[in-house]
Amino acid sequence: MTAVSNRYPTAQLRALDAAHHFHPFTDTKALNAEGSRIITAAKGVWLTDSDGNRILDGMAGLWCAQVGHGREEIADAVHRQMTELSYYNTFFKTTHPPVIALAEKLAEVSPPQFNRTFFCSSGSEANDTVFRMVRFYWDQMGKPEKKIIIGRWNGYHGSTLAGTSLGGMKAMHEQGDLPVPGVRHIPQPYWFGEGGDMSPAEFGIWAARELEKAIDHHGEDKVAAFIAEPIQGAGGVIIPPETYWPEVQRILKERDILFVADEVICGFGRLGTWFGSEYYGIEPDLMPIAKGLTSGYLPMGGVLVSDKVAAGVIDKGGEFYHGYTYSGHPACAAAALANLEIIQREKLVERVANDIGPYLQARWRALGEHPLVGEARMTGLVGALELVPEKGNRKKAFPNTGTVGTMCRDISFRNGLIMRAVRDSMIISPPLVITHGEADQLVAIAKKTLDDTHAELKRRGMI
Ligand SMILES: *Cc1c(COP(=O)(O)O)cnc(C)c1O
Repeated sequence: MTAVSNRYPTAQLRALDAAHHFHPFTDTKALNAEGSRIITAAKGVWLTDSDGNRILDGMAGLWCAQVGHGREEIADAVHRQMTELSYYNTFFKTTHPPVIALAEKLAEVSPPQFNRTFFCSSGSEANDTVFRMVRFYWDQMGKPEKKIIIGRWNGYHGSTLAGTSLGGMKAMHEQGDLPVPGVRHIPQPYWFGEGGDMSPAEFGIWAARELEKAIDHHGEDKVAAFIAEPIQGAGGVIIPPETYWPEVQRILKERDILFVADEVICGFGRLGTWFGSEYYGIEPDLMPIAKGLTSGYLPMGGVLVSDKVAAGVIDKGGEFYHGYTYSGHPACAAAALANLEIIQREKLVERVANDIGPYLQARWRALGEHPLVGEARMTGLVGALELVPEKGNRKKAFPNTGTVGTMCRDISFRNGLIMRAVRDSMIISPPLVITHGEADQLVAIAKKTLDDTHAELKRRGMI
């Protein structure tokens, strides 16, 4: 059998994909009727497809390619590591230099309360680790009755059993009778969609106090932890009102439960700080990480463990019966180290805070003037456009949620820009290395895409 190569014609690649590949988060039957898009190469912020089209990657892969695609420095570091030590485990009293170096580097770049990392291969595994570590912590602290973990509706924490359970995606819960027992969900701080007649500030306080109500309802002595993304990503780039995080932090400070900030998207510069928690001035006890940790060059995740949690799960002694064959994989650690080295050397975090962040935000927010856009929001380099049938009326949505978003996403792809659709909002999260010129191109294509979508909706009589 010959290797499938870039030189196969698109139709042949599509047919093979349709015959043998079961896609994640996809109605594969419907996709196969339509045919997959085939990406064959990528450099910087640009993707190339099997027909030779160049497409601007407005999503940094899946929110992960902080340093852009195709950096030889990372490939070289991985190659070097694989020829020296391709694999060894970290279970049985062993370790190796790349994982030592990475753990030390993460302690350096993270907030002061974090000095240790537990490694895994993805964000979902990181949250499975969180689930087990939180319960182990309270057992170790002599409070085994503290078991309930509170998450948020429309939060996303991955797709494994624990990840799906902690997350608040109802469609995911419906497949397989989830969440698992011991998980509760509270409303999300999504003012545009759920704020009703409250001002954003009032709504932020209201949403935070739902946490207080939930903890007090179950009793602080039964609740183990609260988990949340600083900004919800997959849920539609939900940027909470300014009042939200200070109120949540107040509530958590007054109660003895662990605070887990899921930094899988917000970590590694996305908000113009190393971690989203720093952007909001919140102080978590655990931080699951993945995505930007390696910029997606190899799969790797982890959980940053604060000194407070370490006092229970490490200092008290006793084995934590948990780990993965690939925990701290040397080649993945080498990729992460090379990636973090680029982020530091090119000052990408500062660049998002002071340069490209404000630059793109101003242009993105200006898209809010478009007749199809109800709100244009962006923090750091993550943003959303809410598409609405009636400008100025937040309460009116398109029928069959998701139809217009998907239409707009397909038009955007044809116009040469990857945006993601969540319900009827359009999402971007570009690589942190995007230049001013490329940011201008991104906004110009997004504008044209809105115009084209508007025209198509008119043609179909939908507005
Ligand atoms: C993507 C994501 C995850 C899951 O990560 P995987 O690597 O896909 O398992 C978890 N949490 C958040 C916030 C994410 O965005």
